Amino acid sequence: MALVGKGVLQGMGLTLRTFLETYPWGRGLLRVLGRSIKDGLVTVQYPDVKQQHHERFRYFPFLVYDGAPENLRCVSCKICEQECPPQCIHIVGPAKDEQGRPLKANGRTYPVKFDIDVSICMSCRICVDVCPFDAIEMDNQYELSGMDRFDAMNFTKEKLLKSNEYFQQIKPTEAGEVDQRLAAKAAKASPKPAGAPPQNPAAPTP
Ligand code: SF4
Ligand code: SF4
Repeated sequence: MALVGKGVLQGMGLTLRTFLETYPWGRGLLRVLGRSIKDGLVTVQYPDVKQQHHERFRYFPFLVYDGAPENLRCVSCKICEQECPPQCIHIVGPAKDEQGRPLKANGRTYPVKFDIDVSICMSCRICVDVCPFDAIEMDNQYELSGMDRFDAMNFTKEKLLKSNEYFQQIKPTEAGEVDQRLAAKAAKASPKPAGAPPQNPAAPTP
């Protein structure tokens, strides 16, 4: 018979253990009980000392570009703007020429304006999850204080743009998965060379 509330008890146990790990006497007690000791909760002398954040730590979103800032992945589809719960994304676009035809950079349409009001953003990551183009990701930069109360909190396209190399640097696991996904998509979309035999996934492998 499953123990009712087992998860709650496990959570309380973890909280108690973290509490004990935080103090020297608690660590001593855990040692006496033969328990392994991790880090506990510690206060560091910020800003002189900065904690290493987990790779999945997230703060505000940024827009990813490949190679050069004009090669942004965002095609201005506005799905993220529609899905953002507090409605803090504002997009103007896609960019068009005088005849109203969409302009393209690196084969893709792009937004004229892409602003995020980070004073409203709640770091929920929904914009990342709904983006079909892996064009927006969560940054881990949290030292963002500014002297201007309004402009400093409105992140424009220019401020939001960061390279894929930056993404790989701050979140190597996630960026690697995205790279693989995009490479698979590109391989699927690329035209097959003339005379290439048709692929048959059901064919037995030698
Ligand atoms: S970030 Fe993604 S979802 Fe948002 S407009 Fe650009 S392509 Fe569309
Ligand atoms: S993280 Fe959430 S609140 Fe912030 S811009 Fe994305 S969808 Fe909106």
